Amino acid sequence: MKIPGTYACPLRRTLALCCFVLNVFLPGWHLAAQEARHTGPKQSSALRQRFTRNQDIARIVQEIDTRNIERIIRKLVSFGTRNTLSTQDDPNRGIGAARDWLYSELVRAAANSGGRMTVEKQAFEQQKAARVATPTVLTNVVATLKGTQAESENRIYVVSGHYDSMCGSPTDGQCDAPGANDDASGTAAVLEMARVMANCKFDATIVFMAVAGEEQGLLGATYFAEQAKQKGSNVEAMFTNDIVGNTLGGNGVRDRRTVRVFSEGVPTNETPEDANVRRSVGGENDSASRQLARFIKETGELYVPHMKVMMVYRRDRYGRGGDHIPFLERGFAAVRFTEPNEDFRHQHQNVRTENGIKFGDLPEFVDYAYVANVARVNAANLAMLSLAPARPRNVAILTARLSNDTDLKWDANQEPDLAGYEILWRDTTSAIWTNSRRVGNVTSYTMKGLSKDNAFFGVRSIDKQGNRSPVSFPRPLGRTAPAVSPSTPSRP
Ligand SMILES: [Zn+2]
Repeated sequence: MKIPGTYACPLRRTLALCCFVLNVFLPGWHLAAQEARHTGPKQSSALRQRFTRNQDIARIVQEIDTRNIERIIRKLVSFGTRNTLSTQDDPNRGIGAARDWLYSELVRAAANSGGRMTVEKQAFEQQKAARVATPTVLTNVVATLKGTQAESENRIYVVSGHYDSMCGSPTDGQCDAPGANDDASGTAAVLEMARVMANCKFDATIVFMAVAGEEQGLLGATYFAEQAKQKGSNVEAMFTNDIVGNTLGGNGVRDRRTVRVFSEGVPTNETPEDANVRRSVGGENDSASRQLARFIKETGELYVPHMKVMMVYRRDRYGRGGDHIPFLERGFAAVRFTEPNEDFRHQHQNVRTENGIKFGDLPEFVDYAYVANVARVNAANLAMLSLAPARPRNVAILTARLSNDTDLKWDANQEPDLAGYEILWRDTTSAIWTNSRRVGNVTSYTMKGLSKDNAFFGVRSIDKQGNRSPVSFPRPLGRTAPAVSPSTPSRP
């Protein structure tokens, strides 16, 4: 939260004027903040529209520039190959040249941060692995924009793209591997966000990261996630942007308005105890990553209304993986952003022409304006997450009494700008939250007349500016689920 009348981001005067004009003339730009107790199928948009847009976030979205996205992608392609096994000491070709250029770009962005953004090369020696024949140094390029609120600076949001590339063979360090879409597109989105957001003040910390070794088995992301786990870092959410640049699918479908967000339902790191609770009372559609996906849809479509966030309720595509997975394995909420219709002739291919068809991951197949829109969806979400309070902790649904009401409780947030909490609920068969109620700055609440047996509930926190956290899904507390055993029949 910022002092009223000041901006989190001191942007250029022309931009402020442009935003002012938009504010005045675009209908619906300011939407009344009203209480909503909606029922019925159109609740998603109803829930969304009662939010007032945060002008700082709107300005960040405005400043993402397609021309920068194109410049970055073309520059990354110019290194010939960025295969993780390619040369690291040629100044013009190979992954080492790309690494050094990315570092210099992020250092340039950090110069506008008032000292809040630091940039490092996170290098490590990768031992022999399935796609690494001999020990090889891998380097993640990491820019950290420190949060400015004492209660929130240790809360971290990570946004990532992988800067390594491959041709037909993941272990060929010599062939040309332009990797314009996979994944210069995601890397460009990350760099452009870092540039725009560096001079903004956020309560929580944002990490902008370009990782190596994705095509070698998610190695760079695994290293970062493992370090974060060992240090006990509070990584609240991670976004990977991977293959976010092509809008004409191999199926002939052109779609410039949709981005897929993949999220897992059952947590990858679920314990047997968690699984027992889930079998008993449900929740297979309510992991922290799934809540994050719902948050991304709500926030992304509010701030970038010409883009549709297509939630896909699975961890990743069939037979494919991405850098969010090592985070999921370590218990961090994470999702993957990817274009809606892929063209496999332009991924993991040697550059060539066969029967008049061009193969290879070339810049001519990238839609730069689309990449910029994906970056805008990301940026709006990262900004909202890091301006908002943390999602409520230890949210519990009290089950000690059999009742037709629903009793919820949670821990108090510590942020000084906290306004209070909101209860959300939906039919158990609904994909998204459909109903909400502001309940003030309390740590327990009873939903009278709404049975916990008939709906799913969640709680989110809100600050005085109206910034909202993702939803926390409660665990049952009190009467635990009866053991699933034929010898101990449960209450009928
Ligand atoms: Zn990729």
